[in-house]
Amino acid sequence: MSKYEAIFKPLDLGFCTLKNRVIMGSMHTGLEETKNGFDKMASFYAERAKGGVGLIVTGGIAPNFQGRVHPFALQLSFPWQVSKHKKITKAVHEHDSKICLQILHTGRYAYHPLGAAPTTSKAPISSFKARGMSKLGIKKTIFDYANCARLAQKAGYDGVEIMGSEGYLINQFLAPKTNKRTDKYGGSFENRSRFALETIRAVRKKTGPNFIIIYRLSMLDLVKDGQSWEEVVALAKQLKEAGVNIVNTGIGWHEARVPTIATMVPRGAFVWVTEKLKKEIELPVVATNRINTPELAQEILDSNQADMISMARPFLADPDFLNKAQDNRSDEINTCIACNQACLDHVFQNKISSCLVNPKACHETEYSKEKSNTPKKIAVIGSGPAGLSFAVEAAQRGHFPTIFEKSKEIGGQFNIAKEIPGKEEFRETIRYFQKQMEILNIELHLNKEVDLNFLKASEFDEIVFASGVRPRTPKIEGIEHKKVLSYPEVLYHKKEVGKKVAIIGAGGIGFDTAEFLIHDPSHQSESMDQEAFFKHWGIDTSYKDRGAVSPKERPTPFREIYLLQRKATKHGRFLGKTTGWIHRQSLKDANVKMLKEVSYTKIDDKGLHIDTPEGSTVLEVDNVVICAGQYSDNELYHEFKEVDARPAHLIGGAEKSMEIDAKRAIKQGVDLANRI
Ligand code: NAP
Ligand code: SF4
Repeated sequence: MSKYEAIFKPLDLGFCTLKNRVIMGSMHTGLEETKNGFDKMASFYAERAKGGVGLIVTGGIAPNFQGRVHPFALQLSFPWQVSKHKKITKAVHEHDSKICLQILHTGRYAYHPLGAAPTTSKAPISSFKARGMSKLGIKKTIFDYANCARLAQKAGYDGVEIMGSEGYLINQFLAPKTNKRTDKYGGSFENRSRFALETIRAVRKKTGPNFIIIYRLSMLDLVKDGQSWEEVVALAKQLKEAGVNIVNTGIGWHEARVPTIATMVPRGAFVWVTEKLKKEIELPVVATNRINTPELAQEILDSNQADMISMARPFLADPDFLNKAQDNRSDEINTCIACNQACLDHVFQNKISSCLVNPKACHETEYSKEKSNTPKKIAVIGSGPAGLSFAVEAAQRGHFPTIFEKSKEIGGQFNIAKEIPGKEEFRETIRYFQKQMEILNIELHLNKEVDLNFLKASEFDEIVFASGVRPRTPKIEGIEHKKVLSYPEVLYHKKEVGKKVAIIGAGGIGFDTAEFLIHDPSHQSESMDQEAFFKHWGIDTSYKDRGAVSPKERPTPFREIYLLQRKATKHGRFLGKTTGWIHRQSLKDANVKMLKEVSYTKIDDKGLHIDTPEGSTVLEVDNVVICAGQYSDNELYHEFKEVDARPAHLIGGAEKSMEIDAKRAIKQGVDLANRI
C-alpha cells in the first residue's frame, strides 16, 4: 500500500470519479503549433496518463482569434478542428486518466494587434495595445467560450478549465486595475464579476451537467488595484451555482514583479491562500505552485489545506512521478528543480518546451524505448550532469557504463549550484542520479583520475569524456595576490571571504557568487523561509490591500559587493528569460554595485584597480573573486584520439565551455546514449 494514501484517494464529483487527487496543471508546450503537433501532444499526454495522473489539463487553447496568445496559437472554434483533438483524448483515455481542455483568452496579454480587453489598454509585458470590448463583443466572447467547451466535449475531453487567473481576460474584468468600464461589466464588484459568471453559466448550459468545469480562480493577483480578498471569496461562493465542479488556484499576474514559481520560491509557498479559501466554500479546491514532491502533496492533503494538488512542471521532469509515489519509490523521482530553463524559457523564445532534467519531455516521439541490440562496456570520465545523464540512460538501454570521477563525489558543477541560496533544489537532481546508479548497478570509481595509460590498457568498447571545465584565470597584474579567490574556492571549498568583495565576471556564475556572498551563512535562505520570502517580495499574507501587495522589505546584505564586467551590455543579459529579472532584482535589493565597461588594471594590497568610462579608481576590497568563465577540460580526449582507434565521445562542458549549462550537458548525455 502506498504511504501517500491521501494522494491516491479517489474524488467523487457526482457524475464521475477522479482516481486520485493530482491534476497535471496546464502547460503550453509549443507542440500545439508544430507540424504533427497533435500526434506529438497525444504521445506527451499519454505518457503522463500512463504515469498515473488522475486528471490532465491541456495547455491553454483560445476560444476565438482575439484570445490567442500569438497569431499562430491554437484556437478551438470550428467543428472541423474536433477530430484532431480526438487523438489526444483517445490516447489519454487508454490509460484510464481524464483530460480537460483549458480555455484561455489572453485579453491584453495577446502578442498580436487584435487583442481585446475590458478596457483599451496595454499590458507592460505586451507590445500591443488591446482594444476595449463592446457589449456585443462581450456577448460574442461568452458565446465563443461556450462553443469552445462544447467542441471540447465533442472531442472527448472530460471537461474544461476556464482560465480566470494570471492576469488573463477574465482576471482583467475582475480587477479595477484593468476594468475601467462604466456599463454593467465594470465598476462595482457585482459588475466586474459578471463576465466571469456569465461565461461559466454559458459553458455549463452548453455542455450539460456531466462535464467537468474547473475554474482557475486568481486567489492572489499580486498587482496593485487587483482584487480584494472579500471579492475573491464573493466570486468563489458563486462558482458552484454557476456550474463549477473544481476550483483551481491561480497566483500572481504575469506582469507582477513577484516570483511565484521560480526555484527561489519556497516549496508550497502559496498553499496558505488555497487553505484560506477552502474554509469559505464547499467545492473541492486545488493547491498549486512549487509543489514538487509527493511528501509535500500528501502533507497538504492530510492537513486539509486543499482537496487536490496541481503540479505541472514536475510531470515534465518525470512522467512516472505518481506511479513511483504509489509504489513508495519517491526517491526515484526525477524532481523538477523549478529552473524554468527548458520549459517556460523555451515557450517565451517560441521553442518547444522540454525539461532540463528530462530532455525527452515533449520529444517523446523522438526517442525509442527499445534496448540496444549491442550492449557495450563504456567508460565514462566525469560525473557531472553530462556524464551522469549519459551513464544512466546508457544503462537503461542495456549498456554497461563505468564512471570514473576524480573528486570525492558525483555531481560536478551541480555541487556548486546547490550551494547558492535559492538553488537548493539542485540537490534533488544529484539524489536522483545517485539512486538511478544504485538501481542500475552502475559501477562508480570516486577519487579516481584516469590517464592515457589506464585507458589504453582498459577493455572498454567506447569511452565518453564528460570531464567538464576548468575555471579561467584572466591575465591581470597581481592575479596571484592572496586576496584573489576562484569561484570554486568560495562556493565549494568555502574559503573565508571578507566583507567587501569585487567579482570579476557577471555571467551566470558571477550572479550566483554574488547571491551567495550577500547572504549571511548563519541564516536560512529565503527559499527555505516563507516569512522572509513574503517580506522581501512584498506579499501581504494578511491581505490588507487589493492584490495582497505590501511594500518590499529588503534584506540587509551581509557583504558589500561589486559585480564587474567588461561588456557595455546590461548585467545578466543572458540569464534565463523568465528568471533573469529575479536574479537582477535580488542583487539590486542587496545594493550590489554593477559596473560595466570595466578594464582590470591590477590587484594589490589596496584592492582592485580598474578603469571605467568614469575614470580610474581602486575598489578597496578584501577579496576579488574570479568568475570569468571556463576552459574545456578535454586534453585527455585529444591524446586518446591520437593513439587509440576505439570510439571516443566528448560531451558537456568538456566539449564546449562557452555557454556551458546543465540543460545542454544533460541532453547531450541522453542523446549520445540513444545513439551509441
Ligand atoms: P559566462 O556566462 O561565460 O560569463 C563569464 C563572465 O566572465 C562574463 O561576464 C565575461 O564578461 C567575463 N570574462 C570572460 N573572460 C574574461 C577575462 N579574460 N577577463 C575578465 N573577465 C572575463 O560564464 P559563467 O558565468 O562561468 O557561466 C557558465 C555557464 O553557466 C553560462 O552559460 C550560464 O548560462 C550558466 N549558468 C547560468 C546561471 C543562471 O542562469 N542563473 C547560473 C550559473 C551558471 P566580460 O567579457 O564582459 O567581462
Ligand atoms: Fe522543472 Fe526546470 Fe524541468 Fe522546467 S526545465 S520542468 S523548471 S526542472
